[in-house]
Amino acid sequence: MKYLFLTCVVVILIFPSCKQEESLPEISQETIARHMAVLASDDFQGRMPCSPGEVKTVDYLVEEMEKMNLNPGNGDSYLQDVPLLEIDTEMTSDMVINTKGGVMNLKPGEDFVVNTERAEDDLSWEDTELVFCGFGIVSEKDNWNDYADMDMTGKTAVVLVNDPGFGSEDADFFKGNTMTYGGRWSTKYDFVDDTGADGILIIHEASMAGYPWFVIQSSWTGPQQGLAGIDRSQDARIKGWIHLEAAKELFEKSGQDLSSMIKEARKPGFQPVPLDATASVSIESSYSTCISKNVIGIVEGKKNPEEYILYTAHWDHIGIGTPVDGDSIYNGALDNASGTSTVLAIAEMHANVKTPPDRSVIFLFVTAEEQGLLGSEYYAQYPLFPHDQTVANLNMDGVNPAGIMNDLTIIGMGHSDMDDVAAEEAGDQNRYVLNEQEPEKGYFFRSDQFSFAKKGVPVLFASGGYDHRKKGKEYAKQFLDDYTASRYHAPADNYDPENWEFGGMVQDGQLYFNVGLRLANSEEWPKWKPDSEFSRPVKLKN
Ligand SMILES: [Zn+2]
Repeated sequence: MKYLFLTCVVVILIFPSCKQEESLPEISQETIARHMAVLASDDFQGRMPCSPGEVKTVDYLVEEMEKMNLNPGNGDSYLQDVPLLEIDTEMTSDMVINTKGGVMNLKPGEDFVVNTERAEDDLSWEDTELVFCGFGIVSEKDNWNDYADMDMTGKTAVVLVNDPGFGSEDADFFKGNTMTYGGRWSTKYDFVDDTGADGILIIHEASMAGYPWFVIQSSWTGPQQGLAGIDRSQDARIKGWIHLEAAKELFEKSGQDLSSMIKEARKPGFQPVPLDATASVSIESSYSTCISKNVIGIVEGKKNPEEYILYTAHWDHIGIGTPVDGDSIYNGALDNASGTSTVLAIAEMHANVKTPPDRSVIFLFVTAEEQGLLGSEYYAQYPLFPHDQTVANLNMDGVNPAGIMNDLTIIGMGHSDMDDVAAEEAGDQNRYVLNEQEPEKGYFFRSDQFSFAKKGVPVLFASGGYDHRKKGKEYAKQFLDDYTASRYHAPADNYDPENWEFGGMVQDGQLYFNVGLRLANSEEWPKWKPDSEFSRPVKLKN
């Protein structure tokens, strides 16, 4: 290396046109750590959109972009307004369920969590009839309708989380254990809206949902945000979740057995089953609109400036909430101060490469991911740079804190040529590519890359995490399981340099930089695989 350099210096002296083979810049661990310590500090209050924590976060991002001389991505501004409707719902009663086997009194938070997406003060169910509607999925492609032949007007659907493929061990049936788009809770909400039902209760089963009950409590109580300006007057009024134990009791008291019902629900031709039970509950909501911000900067390309590589990371988290062990600030260090910090570090590298890239490189920090991918959804609906000129989206959400890994695990593998691009770069780091290990959790639909996939932009969402280079697979698994069980969406998701090995963040950050730089300096257009459901933009409600 040294010799090569010296040779070139000598040659430059003689022939000034000698172009030194530029070695790739290296991402700085200190930079990632420095940003993360700030963004995940208590001072930033868990970075809830439209809170004082947002102001601090957005100011910080803009200042950092200015420092690295990134160009503003929205005219002369680094900001894109994202209008949000915030609804703060209080569950003001127990949920009283009348069954033929007796009355159940479910406690808010403990046994159920409900709220509304409608801007209305008071809403209630008064003896709404409960109907078991399988997985709550309607899919023409799969010839599937869990609401078949059932008039749902005024009734409430009780549905399973995930999709019928889960546990089927048949990869061709709703993609087996891989969660399909219809398995997402948000899609179930959309489906039920089309039936005229009064409401929906999703049965929480931890392995099928991919997270424990407390995530339902922490995520779905307190103020909820949606995009403003969407007509919800015809939507189901009350929506939410019921605890597995409560659901089991409900089925039992209705003379049914939940586990055999789950089996029925997996069979093609399943028909909704009235539970011979009614539910009553009241909620009170206050609502307001606010303007949150996406933050965007760009490094202009030199040769093809109107083709774009789009990096994303969500800056928001869930703010201040129910205290756990005396801590009420949900700092979101990994989720997603880590991705935000790493993309900031990557942005600085792209801003400083000696030769400007051929294509432009965009850095978009989106808001309200935790509220349902709202910031990226808004950008996807109102793009500042055209989607058909956007070569790829590289999204980071939760960067690996466990140390250097042998794997690069791709979420949503098999959808596009981005798999191959990532695999080559991973190979250069002596890593192998791994398909996602918990495909039932539907991670592909749970972060911002999904908003771009729906618009036809090929995406990369990948990180190491399952095969620790020094400590092995068992250690890596334990680390991940501990995070999911006690830190994910909990106040314990703190900046924790003592227990982290930053090597994994450096490794993934470097890979993301390398992939971005390679695409920025090429004429490659990664394509969707023909059988991906995203090979064409998907038409969705919002
Ligand atoms: Zn996240």
